[in-house]
Amino acid sequence: MRRRASRPQLKRDPLGSSVTSNSSMSQHFVEYRGVRMVAGWPDRIEEAQRIRTYSSGGREIPRIPYGSERDDWGAETKPCHDCRVFKGELHVVGCDVEECPICHNQLLGCDCPFDDRK
Ligand SMILES: [Zn+2]
Ligand SMILES: [Zn+2]
Repeated sequence: MRRRASRPQLKRDPLGSSVTSNSSMSQHFVEYRGVRMVAGWPDRIEEAQRIRTYSSGGREIPRIPYGSERDDWGAETKPCHDCRVFKGELHVVGCDVEECPICHNQLLGCDCPFDDRK
């Protein structure tokens, strides 16, 4: 008779990050700094804070943090509605609130010649 060592191991991941490829049915949500967002997103936010500039024509141009846009997105009272950063933080790249530091229109919609935008 073989004894199986059955360790009661509950698969618990506080960030829900074990959910990867086949999670199309139900998306996992986590709470990060009191804000609900999809699992894995807190990493994107932290990563975004390290991307401080965009380069255009070899020149480094500082990004515009949430709350410094020409439009008022309500940064005083709530996190960014798209990427969930707080006032003063840099948006997750690809956020539709982020303002272009060159033309000051929506970054996603403008045509400014950023070096990584070819
Ligand atoms: Zn944002
Ligand atoms: Zn632009």
